[in-house]
Amino acid sequence: MTQFKNFIGGKWVDGNDSAPNVNPSDTSDVIGHFARASADQTQKAIASARSAFRTWSLSAPQQRFDLLDQVGSTILARKNELGKLLAREEGKTLAEAVGEVGRAGQIFKFFAGEALRVGGEIVPSVRPGLTVEVTREPLGVIGLITPWNFPIAIPAWKIAPALAYGNCVVVKPAELVPGSVWELVKIIAEAGAPAGVINLVMGKGSVVGETLVKSADVDAISFTGSVGTGQAIAAQCVATGKKFQLEMGGKNPMVVLDDADLDVAVEACINGAFYSTGQRCTASSRLIVTSGIHDRFVEAMQARMRSLKIGNALDESTQIGPVVDAKQLGQDERYIELACAEGGSVFGGGRVPSATEGFFLAPALVTNTTPAMTINREEVFGPVASVIRVTDYNEALAVANDSPFGLSAGICTASLAHASHFKRHVQAGMVMVNTATAGVDYHVPFGGRKGSSYGPREQGTHAREFYTTVKTTYIAPGNV
Ligand code: NDP
Repeated sequence: MTQFKNFIGGKWVDGNDSAPNVNPSDTSDVIGHFARASADQTQKAIASARSAFRTWSLSAPQQRFDLLDQVGSTILARKNELGKLLAREEGKTLAEAVGEVGRAGQIFKFFAGEALRVGGEIVPSVRPGLTVEVTREPLGVIGLITPWNFPIAIPAWKIAPALAYGNCVVVKPAELVPGSVWELVKIIAEAGAPAGVINLVMGKGSVVGETLVKSADVDAISFTGSVGTGQAIAAQCVATGKKFQLEMGGKNPMVVLDDADLDVAVEACINGAFYSTGQRCTASSRLIVTSGIHDRFVEAMQARMRSLKIGNALDESTQIGPVVDAKQLGQDERYIELACAEGGSVFGGGRVPSATEGFFLAPALVTNTTPAMTINREEVFGPVASVIRVTDYNEALAVANDSPFGLSAGICTASLAHASHFKRHVQAGMVMVNTATAGVDYHVPFGGRKGSSYGPREQGTHAREFYTTVKTTYIAPGNV
């Protein structure tokens, strides 16, 4: 069985022990054993990043452009092979997985360009004779803690800007899906990243993650994952004086108004709620539907759900892959049971038989729900959506905003007035009109409000707000 090592200070090193990476479509398929780093090894990775920062932070933008551009080209050239690995370890369909790898390649290309575009400002001083310069500098050592649902895209959208702006990185992928990050780090190393600029420490959140978060030598943490872990990380970052950025899920509303194009609304909801097995923080999990279209909408959703093919992620005809593991499957099923116990009616949601041992769950649509029910308050993170019937647009907007989360929000309507009002008044970081709440571009900001996100936005040019720090310099003539 192949053993995959950690990457520390430019060298591949064994861990204390290792963990198997298991295919959720076929649990007899073990992708490999991935080293688990100890706290000491994590400290070594941090120290090598700190040491590399001295020169990398002063490197020419052309060097960083060339590195990231080369990484992007390699990812794109290998996207089918890397996509297959991703589908094997996470369980999203082959098409989704290849698409995600392609996205990672595009992200590296984008941030290659960003390395060249870090400008500054020269501002006249309010005091006579002085000039003010505002410039950006890298932060230092960045700890990146990533989740399992986007095994290469999320690490890419954190690693690429960190390196582009001259920082050094210690990345800790989710234990469930270390394979894609392992390949990504190898690509970055082979593209010529100097030793210590990128370090990979795989292993447990409670060991590796906590060491990163508590270390006084880590300048910033960028985290994506659950609310509970995010809040614990935030408290430790405050205690150790670190900059931090958190992306933590959603309970994203999709409003469907009476005047919506039914086919458009159903496709947006099927995609937003169930593609990628519903395991997206931007998934549409609350479908808020006005009464004039409600029954037709539910009927059309159920008909469309019957046609979805659930199965092995590597089978090209599969439209919905397995749930990521047994623990998540149990969580999904508990939420479905709870929704029934609280008065909801469930369509779908049963286990799906398969030729291989895996975690196959039919998408579930829960109707007859109210905003106060648990299914409408907490993130399930599976192929489970609920329908809330409302009387009109105003009630729909109020229900959409009645959530501790605020990541993505959608509306399906033919009314420009309602779409414009919704865009302005919905409490979300991203708004979608007549398109799914999930599925975003890579050159514009990604992130939310309320309990979904904390800190500057990720992706696009806005990423520099997190990965750089601003310096203001005052220059008086005569002495310079
Ligand atoms: P976690 O938040 O526990 O994990 C996310 C990352 O944080 C992983 O790399 C994890 O490591 C790491 N981590 C865990 N504990 C600590 C810690 N104490 N200090 C530092 N890092 C830590 O999410 P899970 O993977 O356990 O998923 C649980 C739920 O979270 C899901 O059911 C879903 O609701 C939500 N989730 C949301 C995501 C989003 O995009 N918003 C993505 C993934 C999950 P390790 O894997 O080794 O535990």
